[in-house]
Amino acid sequence: AKDSGRGTRLFYAPGMEGQPALLLRQEHLLREAVEQQSFELHYQPQVEVASGRLRGLEALVRWQHPEQGLVGPDAFIGLAESRGLITHIGRWVLRRACRQMRTWHDAGLPRVPVAVNLSAIEFRQRDVVGDIAQVLRESGLAPQFLEVEITESVLMHDVEGTRATLAALQTLGVAVTVDDFGTGYSSLAYLKRYPLDKIKVDRSFVMDTPNDAGDVAIVTAVVQLARGLQLRSVAEGVETDEQMALLRRLGCDLAQGFGVSRPLPAVQIQAWMQSLPA
Ligand code: C2E
Ligand code: CA
Ligand code: CA
Ligand code: CA
Repeated sequence: AKDSGRGTRLFYAPGMEGQPALLLRQEHLLREAVEQQSFELHYQPQVEVASGRLRGLEALVRWQHPEQGLVGPDAFIGLAESRGLITHIGRWVLRRACRQMRTWHDAGLPRVPVAVNLSAIEFRQRDVVGDIAQVLRESGLAPQFLEVEITESVLMHDVEGTRATLAALQTLGVAVTVDDFGTGYSSLAYLKRYPLDKIKVDRSFVMDTPNDAGDVAIVTAVVQLARGLQLRSVAEGVETDEQMALLRRLGCDLAQGFGVSRPLPAVQIQAWMQSLPA
């Protein structure tokens, strides 16, 4: 299988089962981080392929680790999920992202939405929509400026419960993106069954385009599928001009990747937004 964009799991890797003391220590440090809110968000722009205009930001969490510096989510989200900490981290992420976006809007920066990643555990949480609505109220951010990204695996289980949650999000006005599309076991029937807004083509399919004909075929198919279902298509991991040109030819709606900008801390993404042509 191709690299799906997941980095090495520093703390929660296979093999760590043999190092229970190390794992226990990381768990302890992560609990402390939750208490002290030792996290930060980096933001990555999402642009319209046709025009290059900014259309949104994705919030990506990092842990300010006391010994290892800034640590990426692939190294601790798994641990957080297995230790019952993910809902605390998720709530912090949601609150921080909504407040930040409201502050930027008030400061006259582009009125675009922020996308937040929800793990399956958070999505299954009791009254997740009520929690989201509360964070929106507290931050004063209008619901149309929040999007949530879920993975395909969420769509496969508990169809009735999933449908109810997605319908409630739609009623609230929060858009939903299916993240990492094509990497899970989702059947295409799920896409039709639920109220969704966007499909995000996984980076592993984008990275070898335009050279790999198989990947070009997959990206083409997903973009067309999205269009047929009246969903917007997003390509992630777009790094090169050639990839962007291909997406333009295919009519892909939105793109995200190092080719536009890496995920950056709030101060830096703010400067980036301020440098955009009006
Ligand atoms: P994701 O949602 O698929 O996010 C995209 C990942 O790809 C990010 O890694 C981003 O830095 C990276 N990326 C973006 N553009 C490019 C590119 O052009 N080239 C390459 N090589 N990589 C690119 P990151 O920030 O390490 O996040 C990894 C994953 O952790 C995310 O994958 C997401 O599933 C998860 N995650 C991040 N923040 C949160 C969060 O607040 N809550 C939860 N539950 N999960 C999160
Ligand atoms: Ca995502
Ligand atoms: Ca993704
Ligand atoms: Ca990915």
